[in-house]
Amino acid sequence: MSVVTRFAPSPTGRLHLGHAASAIRAHDFARERGGRFVLRIEDIDGTRSRPEFVDGILEDLAWLGLRWDELVFQSERLATYDAAMEGLKARALVYPCFCTRAEIAASASAPQGEVGPIYPGICRGLSAAEIAARTGACCWRLDMAKAVGETGALSWHDAAAGWVVADPLAPGDVVLARKDAPASYHLAVTLDDAAQGVTDVVRGVDLFAATHVHRVLQALLGLPVPRYHHHPLVVDAAGRRLAKRDGALSLAEMRAAGEDGVVLAARVRSGDRLATVR
Ligand code: GLU
Repeated sequence: MSVVTRFAPSPTGRLHLGHAASAIRAHDFARERGGRFVLRIEDIDGTRSRPEFVDGILEDLAWLGLRWDELVFQSERLATYDAAMEGLKARALVYPCFCTRAEIAASASAPQGEVGPIYPGICRGLSAAEIAARTGACCWRLDMAKAVGETGALSWHDAAAGWVVADPLAPGDVVLARKDAPASYHLAVTLDDAAQGVTDVVRGVDLFAATHVHRVLQALLGLPVPRYHHHPLVVDAAGRRLAKRDGALSLAEMRAAGEDGVVLAARVRSGDRLATVR
């Protein structure tokens, strides 16, 4: 099977060196194996995504000398996400949740998990009549215990960690369809990786915990399981992961300062610009 990797940025800001390193890793992994490198713009967050950031991302990747074989926008795939949600609803694997963020945060039994607060299950047992009586907007959550009851034990492979036993009960009842968007990151990314034929997911280790959720969704939706390659994050001199709010230079600013993108990419590949990676 020929290799397909992807880079899946959210157009909520300009790319920095951390994004560049991740894109270059995914790109080179495919190219070194005669495979394909595809791009996916994760633009279903209507409140934070901006068209000008999409243009900026494409410009920055081209500047680094990267070429992609396919470009997909999540905003054009909403019908696919809807269809998957309908299937999960029909199987009663998801339930509507009317809680606000504040209510969840206020619940004493809502500890912070690696992929967000662990939902304390307030809406899990609502009856049909109780649901019908609610008027507010709802999101849809996966009933994780029920899902795991269907899938049984699962595992996935990470290049650095080896075989990993999936632990989906740790993140709990994650959101699959949001109040303001027809799909959450977890649902969209799982469906899209399968639709784009991604064989190898190359992404930052910050998404390692999310893979437990993705593995369950793959099993529930009958999707192939890619190999995972979670890589270390680029950090700044203070050891913090790069972020715009901490003053990380964007690739656009480096370009404006006269840097050459292809030279920068070569230095990233050699590790020269990543002395602070951990
Ligand atoms: N869109 C996600 C981000 O920008 C990446 C998703 C992924 O690689 O799975 O952080």
